[in-house]
Amino acid sequence: MSRVTVVGGGLAGCEAAFQLARRGHDVTLHEQKPLARTPAQTGDGLAELVCSNSMRGASLGNAVGLLKEELRRAGSLVMAVADLTRVPAGGALAVDRERFSAEMTARVRAEPRITVTASVVETIPSERPVIIATGPLTGDALAAELARVIGAEKLAYYDAIAPIVSAESIDWSRVFKQSRYDKGDDGDDEAYVNCPFDEQGYLAFVAELAAAAKVVPRDFEKIRYFEGCLPIEVMAERGPRTLSFGPMKPVGLTDPRTGRRPWAVVQLRPEDAHATAYNLVGFQTRMTFTEQARVLRMIPGLEQAEFFRYGSVHRNTFVDAPRILDEAMQLRAATGVFLAGQITGVEGYVESAAGGFVAALLLADRLAGRPLSPPPPATALASLASHLRRETKDFQPSNVTWAHFPPLEDASLKKRERYDAMAARALVELGPWAAARLAERG
Ligand SMILES: Cc1cc2nc3c(=O)[nH]c(=O)nc-3n(C[C@H](O)[C@H](O)[C@H](O)COP(=O)(O)OP(=O)(O)OC[C@H]3O[C@@H](n4cnc5c(N)ncnc54)[C@H](O)[C@@H]3O)c2cc1C
Repeated sequence: MSRVTVVGGGLAGCEAAFQLARRGHDVTLHEQKPLARTPAQTGDGLAELVCSNSMRGASLGNAVGLLKEELRRAGSLVMAVADLTRVPAGGALAVDRERFSAEMTARVRAEPRITVTASVVETIPSERPVIIATGPLTGDALAAELARVIGAEKLAYYDAIAPIVSAESIDWSRVFKQSRYDKGDDGDDEAYVNCPFDEQGYLAFVAELAAAAKVVPRDFEKIRYFEGCLPIEVMAERGPRTLSFGPMKPVGLTDPRTGRRPWAVVQLRPEDAHATAYNLVGFQTRMTFTEQARVLRMIPGLEQAEFFRYGSVHRNTFVDAPRILDEAMQLRAATGVFLAGQITGVEGYVESAAGGFVAALLLADRLAGRPLSPPPPATALASLASHLRRETKDFQPSNVTWAHFPPLEDASLKKRERYDAMAARALVELGPWAAARLAERG
């Protein structure tokens, strides 16, 4: 059996180390605590939940609920400990964060094949294979080395996430499909959906954007915004016309119902190959989620919008996964160097744990000299991974959402029934795969 190095004892790193150890590999887990902490950490345990104690929705009708159930059935350590340390939280799975971290620390340290080492890793270790799972606040020296290996433009220090709405919640009678000057990305002149504003509606919308409550950044998050990537409310605060000369500019567009150029538009771009969801182009925002739900529903056509994801802007170290990682989560530029967790461009506690889980299983396949056995396509595990392979102009991190799943053949189902059917389909596919993967463990 092999020796594997894992850097970062967070959710992804602990999950990966545990899965590899249980498959007979010796693991050295480097964690910087207690020598150093990221600005968001307050404790010295492994797998610290740095903010909310919630792992979000528990029901299977919820994409992250399904992801949790798949992890549970496939033998995830994070899920076993989350269930053990659960506290009441209505429809969500929330945990006692101190107990969660303490139990994770105890279980990882109790694994005979895992050695936990306190060290601040500043360069990619020469021992290979190595999984780097240092998370959204990866130390500067290691991030700089990563940037050197993959190319500085392939590593981001902030995310700037635009909201995503479900296609079926758009009022299609109020919007029109058209690309600027009828030129789409791939020759498709109807690649974009436009939500047209008149002058009065636009000015009211901009006023609400400027006045809406925003998430207050933590000290270390005082962000130096790039001019090309400003949150919409920052633009709204600069003056009433700034947005209509920026992401809401109507140039090159003609509303077929009026035959005229709208005063301003919000453009929507399909988020997935089947156009089941759309993102609001250039609409990264720090408005609170409640305010996003209120203010963004002022956009013509989005009055009843269902948000798959809200916008955000965070300090977040992540790579351009579709361009720099292969199907095993290995750097194309450095053999034997794998990434896992939030640094790959997944977002959230459960998604990061899932990233560590899948990276470890694929590495175990390689070490055993057998073909890779990734999770079956209809599962949440596979759907989340598909986000990391979807090349876009501006790759941004994402939670797991239903938009990442392959659509059902039966398109007639209503939303709730559809999600239930997608979850049922996923668990059926997961069953034999999870059983085979559990059987590999000692
Ligand atoms: C301020 C903030 C708030 C967040 N709030 C939430 C939330 O409420 N809900 C949610 O789902 N997600 C939240 N996230 C995202 C969350 O961080 C991730 O979902 C999750 O923790 C990522 O897991 P990970 O294992 O990839 O990284 P982490 O959990 O961050 O683990 C990385 C580990 O690597 C260690 N490390 C870093 N650099 C080095 C180094 N050079 N050498 C050795 N060790 C190193 C760190 O100490 C850490 O233990 C938040 C993120 C931040 C920054």
